[in-house]
Amino acid sequence: MIKDRVIPEPELRAFLPGPSLSGEAQALLLQQKSTWELARIGYKSLESVRTNTFDFDGEPIRVQFNPGRMKSTAARVDDRSIRERPCFLCNENLPPEQKGILYREDFMLLVNPYPICPEHFTIAGIDHKPQRIHDGIETLLDLAHDLASEFAAMYNGPRCGASAPDHRHFQAGTRSFLPVVDGFSNVRERFGRLLVDTGEVRVYGLDRHLPPFIALESSSLAVMIRSFDTLYRTSQGVSGSNEEPMMNLVSWYDDGIWTLVVFPRSKHRPARFYEEGDRRLLVSPAAIDLCGVVTLPAEKDFERMQKADVEAILDEVTLTPEMFRDLTGALAEAFGSE
Ligand SMILES: [Zn+2]
Repeated sequence: MIKDRVIPEPELRAFLPGPSLSGEAQALLLQQKSTWELARIGYKSLESVRTNTFDFDGEPIRVQFNPGRMKSTAARVDDRSIRERPCFLCNENLPPEQKGILYREDFMLLVNPYPICPEHFTIAGIDHKPQRIHDGIETLLDLAHDLASEFAAMYNGPRCGASAPDHRHFQAGTRSFLPVVDGFSNVRERFGRLLVDTGEVRVYGLDRHLPPFIALESSSLAVMIRSFDTLYRTSQGVSGSNEEPMMNLVSWYDDGIWTLVVFPRSKHRPARFYEEGDRRLLVSPAAIDLCGVVTLPAEKDFERMQKADVEAILDEVTLTPEMFRDLTGALAEAFGSE
């Protein structure tokens, strides 16, 4: 009988060359688009997104009109609003059609039904615990590793664009869609200043890039975790605060090397977000915006957005050149004395 010849799928699976989280995530997206109306509509709407591209010193920043992002961009993230709303990342509040992939024991990889990237995931903690990076950096780096080579893993600080500051989560999105990630070796070459090379980790400052950022590269997970801790404590020292330094993180893994990009922040949202009437600009920059895709959920904002506005917004929410110099100076010293 032919059917006796066919190897059962679970039996074959045991011999597959290791699980590939990126492949599983892509399969989940297809499954969700075919069974969950909200996801189907969300990804369909990406086909009609309008985009303008501005050139900044040879590097592109795209501005995207994406009405699906209205809820997230305009989300009220003050303590009271957060307390009074049902948490949209808690398991009991997810729609019945939404399915996920268990990651490790304490995270769930979910399809983001309001995508910016062509393939866009949220990796949410199983428990309702606040968004913090200090004990989460290993998970971010593990995700970057396990989602290679399709996706970059991202973290938005609780006051840096995360729409659920009360429930820890990461994001993952298509690497080739993000200009800073896609063109990274060129960007680092053109704008990067090597601050430190310990032999185990290289630290770069990209002062003249819009927006400015710090990049760490290492082939060792343990060294990356330790180096991030140095960066975290140094940022606290420079800002004179014990709280989590305001930052967005993006990480990916290539040819045995982790890259971690850190965008230090000075502000959650630009002043124009809070203005009334015509001056109001609905923009709430997070990791994807800082990687070169600025999302605008209001069409009128998209139509009037000029290059100077993009520059002003990104300048306003990141560090001034003086602040950035102080930070990179302190970093060079901190790594040098280790
Ligand atoms: Zn929750």
